[in-house]
Amino acid sequence: MQKGNIRVQTENIFPIIKKFLYSEHDIFIRELVSNAVDATQKLKTLSSIGEAKGELGELRIDVSIDKEKNTLTISDRGIGMTEGEVDKYLNQVAFSGAEEFLEKYKGQNEANIIGHFGLGFYSSFMVSDQVEVFTKSYKEEAKAVRWECDGSPEFILEETEKAERGTSIVLYLNEESKEFADAHRVKTVLDKFCKFLPVPVF
Ligand code: ADP
Repeated sequence: MQKGNIRVQTENIFPIIKKFLYSEHDIFIRELVSNAVDATQKLKTLSSIGEAKGELGELRIDVSIDKEKNTLTISDRGIGMTEGEVDKYLNQVAFSGAEEFLEKYKGQNEANIIGHFGLGFYSSFMVSDQVEVFTKSYKEEAKAVRWECDGSPEFILEETEKAERGTSIVLYLNEESKEFADAHRVKTVLDKFCKFLPVPVF
C-alpha cells in the first residue's frame, strides 16, 4: 500500500492560470495593486505598534508605463520583502485549498478563483514575457533583492541596489498585451478595479 500527497508541478500551473483568466486579462492590475495596498497597510500597522521604526514617508502606489521598453511598473512603499520572504512567497506557489475549489466556485466569476488560491501575483504572467521584482524590507539591515522570472519555473534571486523601502514590480509585456503600455488603457482599468482604496494610486 502507498499513501501520499499529490504533488503539483509549477510547469503545469502557469498554463492553468493563463487559461482561467483568458477572458479577463486586465485583472492582473487589480491583483498587483491590492498586494501593494496590503503591503502598505501592514507597514502602517507595524509602525503604529512600534515594530517598524523610522519615517514612513509618503505612502503611495505608483503605476507607470514605459512605451519604448514595453513595461508596466507597480511600485509601493510598503513593508517590502527580505530575500527569505521572496523565496517563501514568490518561489512557492501555494496551491492549497484545492478541495474547496469546485464547491465554492461552481459557476462563479473566474476572477475570484485566482485570489482564492493566493495566486494573485502570478496573474502578472498572463500579460508578461518576464517579470522583475525589486524589493527592500522595512526591517533594519535588510538588503534589497531582485527577483526575475520568465514564467518558467526557473527564477533568479540576487542582491540589488534599492534606495527606498518597498516593492517595485516590472512587467515586460508580451506581444498580445502591449495595450497595457498605454496610459489611457491602464487608467481605465484602475478606474474599474482600483477605486476607493486606502492608499492613493498615481
Ligand atoms: P496573496 O496576496 O493572495 O497572498 P500573492 O501570490 O498575490 O498571494 O502574493 C503572495 C505573497 O507575496 C503575499 O501574501 C505577500 O506576502 C507577498 N507579496 C506580494 N506582493 C507584495 C508586495 N507588493 N509587497 C510585499 N509583499 C508582497
